[in-house]
Amino acid sequence: MPPLPFPMPATPDAPLLAIEDLVVRYDTPHGVVHAVDGVSLTVRRGETLSLVGESGCGKSTLGRAILRLIEPAGGRIRLEGEELTGLSRRALCPKRRAVQMVFQDPFGSLDPRWTVGQLLAEPLHVHGIGPRAERRDRVLGLLERVGLPADAAQRHPHEFSGGQRQRIGIARALALEPKLVVCDEPVSALDVSVQAQILNLLVDLQRDLGVAFLFISHDLSVVEYIADRVGVMYLGRIVETAPREALWRAPLHPYTRALFDAVPDIERPGRARAPLSGDVPSAYAPPSGCRFHTRCPLAVDRCRRDAPALRPAGDPDHHVACHLAPGGAP
Ligand code: SF4
Repeated sequence: MPPLPFPMPATPDAPLLAIEDLVVRYDTPHGVVHAVDGVSLTVRRGETLSLVGESGCGKSTLGRAILRLIEPAGGRIRLEGEELTGLSRRALCPKRRAVQMVFQDPFGSLDPRWTVGQLLAEPLHVHGIGPRAERRDRVLGLLERVGLPADAAQRHPHEFSGGQRQRIGIARALALEPKLVVCDEPVSALDVSVQAQILNLLVDLQRDLGVAFLFISHDLSVVEYIADRVGVMYLGRIVETAPREALWRAPLHPYTRALFDAVPDIERPGRARAPLSGDVPSAYAPPSGCRFHTRCPLAVDRCRRDAPALRPAGDPDHHVACHLAPGGAP
């Protein structure tokens, strides 16, 4: 992806979310974890951008860094053209209304001592929205919006199934009418039939409310269902971004192709495949050059030396970070 033109004006034409060169590192007793390393991407208004990759590739860390639940070590995050990085906690608070999060484990994110009504009213109370009666009406509206009965407000999270708890998590994320919701593996802990219900709910909410989703998942079938565009992450870096159709039609990065090859194809069971072998290298000491070179069947000397930049490839919205992908320098 070409560098974003920072500083950008706060105009309606600016992307909803623009991330440039974001870096997240953890200091641990064993050394520094390079969790996210120089990621740039944009999320447009009302779209779903999915982040995919193996566990430990940094996609959840990236999602949390956008909300500043984890402090980035470098780079910039802009929401509607306004800088979020560097804001104090107090200055960040009003901006937080526009970006909310849905977690993989809704039970872990819902205080079990509170009723659902209290859980949904709390963000309204914190942000000083409406008198008590208005907040109560909003809570009932949120429950209806996510397909739960009004009497759910008087019950506690443990009285609900996993799918219903995720509906509560989504309602809480929507309470402040955000423009962007970061969904971190929101269906991966649910049964397949319940997954479909939650995905359909998210699709309906996006259609009705115009909210954008940054949808983090390791499951390509889920991503195929919900994404408008897809970003593929490997060991802290974006290696390919493309509209969903383009990626499914012609994935360009060897890692993306390996992810597809790892999915069973019941329509073409004999098709030649080259799924990944070996483990993801340690994020304490990522490989030099292209981080994928230790597992890439196409790697050449240059791959061990030079890190490939994300650059346009084919479709106008398709970008890939591989020396050997079409359109690269020889
Ligand atoms: Fe493989 Fe080299 Fe491309 Fe990296 S840059 S994906 S190692 S061919």
